[in-house]
Order: sequence, then C-alpha cells, then structure tokens
Amino acid sequence: MIPIRRNGLLYYRFETLAAQRGVDHAVFTRLGGLSKPPFASLNVGATVGDDPAAVHENRRIVFAEMGLSPDEVVTCYQVHSAAVAPVGARHGGQVIPATDGLMSAESVALFLRFADCVPIILYDPVRRAVALVHAGWRGTAAGIAGVGVARMAEQYGSRPGDILACIGPSIGPCCYRVGEDFRQAITAQWPDAAAYIARRNGVLHADLWEMNRRQLVDAGVGHVEVAHICTACHNDEFFSHRGDGGRTGRFAALVRLR
Ligand SMILES: [Zn+2]
Repeated sequence: MIPIRRNGLLYYRFETLAAQRGVDHAVFTRLGGLSKPPFASLNVGATVGDDPAAVHENRRIVFAEMGLSPDEVVTCYQVHSAAVAPVGARHGGQVIPATDGLMSAESVALFLRFADCVPIILYDPVRRAVALVHAGWRGTAAGIAGVGVARMAEQYGSRPGDILACIGPSIGPCCYRVGEDFRQAITAQWPDAAAYIARRNGVLHADLWEMNRRQLVDAGVGHVEVAHICTACHNDEFFSHRGDGGRTGRFAALVRLR
C-alpha cells in the first residue's frame, strides 16, 4: 500500500486503486485524531466506549480529508454477517442496520470500521460499481467476500473477471492464534478453511488474508491485491483488538466512485 502523510494524518491507499481514475479510497490509521487512550487517537467506532464528541470530530476529520460532508457518507451497523446491502446517494448520512458490506453504483461514500477484521474493497471499472466489506472470521466462514462479488454481478451486471479486489490491513497469520474450537467452527461452515490454519510451535494460526483471497479467486475475481499489513504487529499505526487486549478503537476504511 502507499502511505500518505497529510494534515497530521497517516493513511494508506492500495496501489491497484490509486491507479484508477474512477474511484477514490483510503484506509486510515489510528493517528491524527482527538481520542484519549485506549482509543488514541483517530477512533471512528461509536460503540467501543469512547467519548462520543471525540468520535464525532474524528469522523469529521476523516470525511474532510476525503472531501466529504457527513451526508455524502453511508455506513452500517456491523454484525459479523455475510450480508451486503446495495445503497445509493439517497442513503447518504444513514446507518444501514445489520449488514457487513455495502455496495453502490452511485457516488455515495461507503464507510466501515476495523480493528483486526479484514477490510475488502471490490471495484468494477467496467460497470462502475464498488463495494466495501467487513470480513471477520464469522464473515469469512460465511463467505462474505464471494457474496460481495455475486451481489455486484446481480445488482450491477458486474463480471467477476472485471472486478479489482483489495484486502486491507487486518490481523495476519503471524498473530492470529486460534484454538481447536475455532478450527472446528470455521471448517464446519467452510471446509476449505483447513488449508489456511497451520500449527506453529504447537499453536494454531489462521490466515484470514489467504482465506479471503482464495474466496475471491474462486468467485472469479481477476485481480486481488493483499496489503500484508498485520494490525497486531503494527498496532502503533492501527487499532488491533488482539494487539491492544480487547479495549481499543476502530480505524476507518472508505471508498467512493468518482
Ligand atoms: Zn502480526
């Protein structure tokens, strides 16, 4: 990813999407906001126990950096599902209930929040549509990345081979230690997950990056960029649920058609 330091902020762009004129996007870090520890400082999560005024201002900072007013941004109440909802400009300023992915063919900005779960952007430059997905292990088990591709095909006529996919900063196989119960739960839903859970030094490690890359490739996506940035290894830059011991903020990912 390409780091951008501006206005006291540090954020990242995917090389794949930075080269595309039709789309604007950013994955923000935890740097440059107003929140106090353990939410320091650019926390955009409103349900983690942080001061609501600080969260409000942090969101304003993020949106302003993208050239957006709050009524041009749509988000959702993330619940670790595999639901991907179509939205349009009329949804600007709204919070869509109980969904973990948003997609649009209009120039409304899609905004989600992360702290170890996997952010995935899908962009179809041919049909001009975009999606932003939140894939934790439950969403990954339920195949939300592939659902996003299928929903874009259904709603916008996207051909999977045209879609450019980007997998953002999230907990890496280096730090995602899991138990036998996890292996059983995820493989019960998606047996192929077993190939991405490895035992190292007696401990199981799961690779959500490769699981999601595999699901995207299986869905027919032609190009997948993986950031390979682990939020726990880099919790100086990113909020990490694991790396910060559970009590922490959320960083922002946004995408919008230009
Ligand atoms: Zn790591």
